[in-house]
Amino acid sequence: MSSIIDPRLEAIKKQFSKVDYVLLVGSGKGGVGKSVTAATIALLLSSKGYAVGLLDLDLHGSVIPTIFDIEGYEPEESKEGLVPPVIIGVKVMSLGLFAKNRPVPIHGKNKRDAITELLAITKWGELDFLIVDLPPGTGDEVIASSTLIPVEREALVIMTPSALARVVASRTILLLRDLRVRIMGLVENMAYMKVDGKTIYPLGKPVGEKLARELHVQYLGMLPFDPSLSMAIDEKNPEKLMETLFARSVDEIIVPVVIGNREILVSKS
Ligand code: ADP
Ligand code: MG
Repeated sequence: MSSIIDPRLEAIKKQFSKVDYVLLVGSGKGGVGKSVTAATIALLLSSKGYAVGLLDLDLHGSVIPTIFDIEGYEPEESKEGLVPPVIIGVKVMSLGLFAKNRPVPIHGKNKRDAITELLAITKWGELDFLIVDLPPGTGDEVIASSTLIPVEREALVIMTPSALARVVASRTILLLRDLRVRIMGLVENMAYMKVDGKTIYPLGKPVGEKLARELHVQYLGMLPFDPSLSMAIDEKNPEKLMETLFARSVDEIIVPVVIGNREILVSKS
């Protein structure tokens, strides 16, 4: 190991000095709804008057700039670092903004380096909540963000009802535990639909509750399969996103836990 201390670690500490609480949104698999859930949590918290940031660390599968309609945006530089654009009250920063031949902060080095750089240069200011959209899996980004973020952090794990999602969700939970990240809860997305008053399970029987019990994590519940969600995203309309049935469910089963957990942590410190 190198004995040289990376000066960026001090910079990260400074940038996070007024951030109260960090929620990492992870999953084993891609396409389970991590990014839309992370975006929706951020928007809902902001609509309740909290100071909220959203950080997208999914370099290869970055969709946050599309959801917030800021593709091609170049973050402003200030003396203390890059200033995230504020969209409907949410400060948004994304690795995806730098992916297209931009020099900073990705310059061909490894992903951990890119994440270290982004964490060191993003000026969050005062935040009640920072929501982090992680890439799928248990790779560099997940390890880097869990180990580099110098603030109380918890993880929300998203899965869909399938045997495959179950296997990878459990792998993610075990990795996060190894990294000493507390698991806030497990959510099963796209789990049900109401058709003519009847509940159907489009992806099969929900399996999350059993998995949560086996792994001793809190099962927060199911989010509906909601076709109006894709429409809101296609229209790049985050306001419309907040009006969906999906968002109402996020507001019911996830947001109160996030707010409650932050209050507990803040009252302890
Ligand atoms: P991930 O970040 O896990 O890869 P995304 O958040 O990008 O997944 O979602 C993948 C796709 O699934 C998107 O097109 C999104 O609109 C859609 N989607 C996610 N959750 C739902 C849901 N509950 N109902 C309908 N479509 C959904
Ligand atoms: Mg994603």
